[in-house]
Amino acid sequence: MDSAALNRDGKDMLEYIAKFWDTLRERKPLHNVTPGYLTAPGVLPDRPPDEPEELKDVLADIDKYIMPGMTQWNHPHFFAYFPSSCSYPSIVADMLCSAVACIGFTWNSSPACTELEIVMMNWLGRLIQLPEVFLNTPTGRGGGIIQGTASEATLVALLAARSKKLDQIDPKKEFLGLIDKLVCYTSELAHSSVERASLIAHVKIKQLPTDSSYSVRGEVLQQAINEDRRNGLIPFYMVATIGTTSVCSYDNLKELGEVCAKENLWLHIDAAYAGNSIICPEYRYLIDGVELADSYNFNPHKWMMTNFDCSAMWFKDCHLVANAFNVDPLYLQHKHDNEVIDFRHLQIPLGRRFRSLKLWFGFRLLGVKALQENIRTQIALAKEFEKMVRGDRQYEIIGEVTMGLVCFRLKDTNAMNEALVKEINDVDRRIHLVPGEVDGTYFLRMAIASTKTTVEDVVFGWKVIQECVQNVKNNNIA
Ligand code: PLP
Repeated sequence: MDSAALNRDGKDMLEYIAKFWDTLRERKPLHNVTPGYLTAPGVLPDRPPDEPEELKDVLADIDKYIMPGMTQWNHPHFFAYFPSSCSYPSIVADMLCSAVACIGFTWNSSPACTELEIVMMNWLGRLIQLPEVFLNTPTGRGGGIIQGTASEATLVALLAARSKKLDQIDPKKEFLGLIDKLVCYTSELAHSSVERASLIAHVKIKQLPTDSSYSVRGEVLQQAINEDRRNGLIPFYMVATIGTTSVCSYDNLKELGEVCAKENLWLHIDAAYAGNSIICPEYRYLIDGVELADSYNFNPHKWMMTNFDCSAMWFKDCHLVANAFNVDPLYLQHKHDNEVIDFRHLQIPLGRRFRSLKLWFGFRLLGVKALQENIRTQIALAKEFEKMVRGDRQYEIIGEVTMGLVCFRLKDTNAMNEALVKEINDVDRRIHLVPGEVDGTYFLRMAIASTKTTVEDVVFGWKVIQECVQNVKNNNIA
């Protein structure tokens, strides 16, 4: 390691990053490039250089080639998806993570990596008032781990549930013809990663209908289980969502939990986005019923000022999961492996980064109050936007505004609303948002995503939308 070069280039890089953040507002929220803009022949060289270049030349190319191809997720006028959060403590923690360059697959491969993660997951678990049974304690079976994404968490929980169910039915582990009969459940509004997990695990999936509040109820699950059992299927897993991606609705955890307990199904809760709000005590009610779940997950990388990737997952029984996926080659064994759970057993890859540093730095350098304040501010901004929409009779709100997401539409055809989204993103380009669709109704999603977004930005966004509506109507685009 050339530490003099690190000092020199590292300082320049930090300056570049600080300036990037300070001038983010001057950029556009959405890129304006087309496929092949960077891969087309002659844009970048065909091969890597044999001799070293200087950072200033690389940074010049970042400005020339990379920044134009970036969607600026933290631009104050980026209102798309759910947020990708960021803060300076997370950036500097990631620097340290890269610098120590450990791969924490076992306790022994870097004890600090495992043990800080245990402490952070307990801090976070207590902050959201998770029942003690999910926390890592000397005598309990529960525990938390940082996965890369919510999709991985859903898949790991599904595989653990599958393994538990198969072991219960067939302790000899022959599993002949059983996997084809396994069936899992989720909401018709669940994130696509749930369906994907079922495809990867080769199990059937039933996407359950929601009620008028876009919530899956216990009775619906019960009926589906009854019907599937009558047809010789084996129900084993339910994914409930707290904060669906399209409308941020909430499945009924208590009802679903009771059905899962009665019917011996594994209940996993995907609270990827809305789960962050639980760090504010006034939103804790959203996960009432979590005590009935087997696993719970949310993404601090979405809304807790923590950079991607950081997906917090807790199990009620991590020993069960560890045993389900346990392979034990000699080179991974160590003299303490009976005393601690190696995190490699609770995830899909072997290697893992020192992600808990990001949480530790964030907690210590920002403090819980600042993390809570960010969530409360963004919810208040969404409510401001909701007021503007409700104040104009041309529009309607879809669902309920509870977090930083407002779903709304022109009281008009889907085609008109589609034309509006195109006008906003492809023609006007001052703000960026994405659409959603529920029950065949197409709408716009306005998500408060950036820590830089102010009430003036929300007012600006509303003005842009109204101007775009006018353009669509004038041009009769729809
Ligand atoms: N679950 C929900 C409810 C989501 O909204 C999202 C993404 O927005 C995901 C899962 C997927 O998250 P990840 O990218 O961490 O897999």
